[in-house]
Amino acid sequence: MKVLAILYTGARAAVQEPRLLGTVENKLGLEKWLASRGHELIGTFNVLLPILSMPDEWLLVSSDKEGPNSDFQKHLVDAEVLITTPFHPGYLTRDLMEKAKNLRLCVTAGVGSDHIDLNAAIDNKVQVLEVTGSNVTSVAEHVVMDILALVRNFIPAHEMIERGDWQVSDIARNAFDLEGKVVGTIGAGRIGYRVLQRLLPFDCKELLYYDYATLPKEAEQAVKARRVEDIEEFVSECDVVTVNAPLHEGTRGLINEKLLSKFKPGAWLVNTARGAICDQDAVASALKSGQLRGYAGDVWNVQPAPADHPWRTMKNPLGGGNGMTPHYSGTTIDAQARYAAGTKSILENYFDGKEQEPANVIVGDGAWATKAYGQR
Ligand code: NAD
Repeated sequence: MKVLAILYTGARAAVQEPRLLGTVENKLGLEKWLASRGHELIGTFNVLLPILSMPDEWLLVSSDKEGPNSDFQKHLVDAEVLITTPFHPGYLTRDLMEKAKNLRLCVTAGVGSDHIDLNAAIDNKVQVLEVTGSNVTSVAEHVVMDILALVRNFIPAHEMIERGDWQVSDIARNAFDLEGKVVGTIGAGRIGYRVLQRLLPFDCKELLYYDYATLPKEAEQAVKARRVEDIEEFVSECDVVTVNAPLHEGTRGLINEKLLSKFKPGAWLVNTARGAICDQDAVASALKSGQLRGYAGDVWNVQPAPADHPWRTMKNPLGGGNGMTPHYSGTTIDAQARYAAGTKSILENYFDGKEQEPANVIVGDGAWATKAYGQR
């Protein structure tokens, strides 16, 4: 049994904070757990702790994921189980999957498995599971924070204070209340719905959603949300758009130059779903021109984002409007406890031949098991 886990490097923080479970150093707590299940031949390797010989049964944990000589590509070839996380995605292309002859199970420690070619997983009968729901509240809270940070022009205000300046008018000229604004979510699943629930007390003018799946009537009424079926009409009505849909063929590049031109001039856009849902250059120029007043999120089309990625430094004409962070909204300490526990439970079911929790299955038995990754 060969289990390969690609996680992010925690370095000093992971040593000081053992609850950073999603790191190479703390290995999702798998090392101890596997040993407690009687897997005695467990060797744990990573770039920090290389060993020379391989036992028959091993867990390889590494953050080294790019290129043919990476631990990811070298050890994928004979791994049976692959554990990855969206925060530091090991991109499992069709080409790599076809070389991984023993691969049976991919587990996403978190939510969002688009870094795996899901169509190739279907063709190669590789199951893909994620820890559904594990970090949806963490992300919904982040979305609300990003919306407020942009609408209230918080980040330039704080930066001004650190610089030693004090010019209230420079900040106030672009600061608004969320009350009375129209906010809409693209995707009203677990995260999108939680965002709507959290926005309800802000007395927005209206809450809208765009999703091919209609919310049940009672759920719609509980958050007083209205569904808009046409995406152009939807964005033209929103002061704030938040993206909460998975990345798939139907959402890749969905927010492009054409759609951005249909937004209300000066709207705010928050995307904590996946970077590639928004066109990188179209967003940067919409912010530069003022068509977007602000853009915030934690997800990037390539992760880690290169140092010169335009989203790191893009600004609106008044020098603000950028609320980008590294991908961390779904990897709070609380979320890590949940997705580490969920990963173990998926592995346990797999080892013991038990049925998996249906909500966790994205691809199972050579077929789609979810309706969330596009209309088919
Ligand atoms: P979910 O499956 O509960 O909901 C997704 C919703 O999106 C569904 O209602 C689905 O019908 C809808 N959808 C799919 N395609 C659509 C389209 N083309 N247009 C409109 N709606 C569409 O998933 P969730 O738990 O809410 O998570 C959503 C996504 O958020 C994940 O797939 C992941 O990419 C992202 N995410 C990010 C983080 C983070 O740390 N930033 C953490 C968790 C999840």
